[in-house]
Amino acid sequence: MTPEKLFHELLGLGLNWEVIESRFDRESGTVFLEIRETPKLWELVRCPKDGHYVTCYDHTEVLTWRHLNIFQHRCEITCRLPRGKCRECGHIFRVRPPWEGLSTHFTKEFESFALLLMREMPMKQVAQMVGETDTRLWRLLFRQVDAAYAQADFSNTCWVGVDEMNVAKGQEYITVFADLAAKRVLFGTEGKDQETWGKFVEALEKHNGHRHALTQVSMDMSAAYQGGVADHCRNAQVVFDKFHVIQNANKAVDQVRRAEIRLGGQGVWAALHKTTWIWRKNPENLTEYEQAHLAKIEHKSLATAKAYQMRMVLQDIYRSPDATTARRRFQVWLRWVRWVARYYQQGGLFKSMLKLAQMIEAHLQGILAHWRSGLTNAFMEGLNSVFSATKRKARGYRSTVYLITMLYFIAGKLRLPQF
Ligand SMILES: [Zn+2]
Repeated sequence: MTPEKLFHELLGLGLNWEVIESRFDRESGTVFLEIRETPKLWELVRCPKDGHYVTCYDHTEVLTWRHLNIFQHRCEITCRLPRGKCRECGHIFRVRPPWEGLSTHFTKEFESFALLLMREMPMKQVAQMVGETDTRLWRLLFRQVDAAYAQADFSNTCWVGVDEMNVAKGQEYITVFADLAAKRVLFGTEGKDQETWGKFVEALEKHNGHRHALTQVSMDMSAAYQGGVADHCRNAQVVFDKFHVIQNANKAVDQVRRAEIRLGGQGVWAALHKTTWIWRKNPENLTEYEQAHLAKIEHKSLATAKAYQMRMVLQDIYRSPDATTARRRFQVWLRWVRWVARYYQQGGLFKSMLKLAQMIEAHLQGILAHWRSGLTNAFMEGLNSVFSATKRKARGYRSTVYLITMLYFIAGKLRLPQF
């Protein structure tokens, strides 16, 4: 068997194409496989416009496609692609070769392999590993994700979660919509205003979903998202999810801590500086050192310790068996916060806790919906780690298009590769 025959078999070229030359270039360490069509090809090719028979018109210049390495050597397919001409309408077109992937520089096999690597490591690293420019690899990913996303079906979507993703440290945001039952990202778009809902609904319906099929929507307490739901999805009940309520409480505690440091003397500062993380964690997650530190702080009856206690109780309310119990406990909690706040009126130490209480009171209906809905918060919470993974993989590429494509790739449950 000649090497050409062997490569013909390996590439699965069939009867319409043949390897006419294979050579190894020592300088670049590259295996080149030159391919040409056989006359048999013309029995098969039809005009893309009207399906009529076609004759060979001419050939393109030499084109190359990166293929999987052969024995650790870079392998490239070269071919002067034939152009066909329709016998009926005269239409001239490039014949698409069977090995070509969705991007014109790679074979299908190479694209599949690159996608495999992209799942595991950041794009820059993939580029380095396979020796391709990241521009080409991104184009590969765009083509693949776009094609797979176009096929995605959202017809069963009824539980949606929405959250914002901070693009960089600046003010840029992406709003992400996820199917909480199917546990996949459905749609991402720039910004975090009310308009994002209109765009989501449009995408949902383009993929066989329906705006009025949405029965429950989980989100933070931002007015923009609530407005969006009111505008577009009249059947959807808004659920303010636990994750965001606790997140707001964490922020409020931290603000109390800062205010207290600002107002307090040396002793307060020594006790509180660099303790942000202690106040965010649940006691069972603290290290021994942190626990000891916390015990010391609590003895000083600082406002921060008080606020922390309130956050813990808030979290405990979520263990209530039903909405009625929860409502009662929320009301007791609200009274407690306001009563304590009076004690700390000086310097507005508890301002952030008061604001939190006000927010919870104003959104109580949606917060209590947590007990009525079957929604789990797991996926909403999980989205945060999905966001970090997305940013890690797309590190160095700030544009939202890159981030959204990467997000679909890792969390969209798309069928990839597509050919
Ligand atoms: Zn034609």
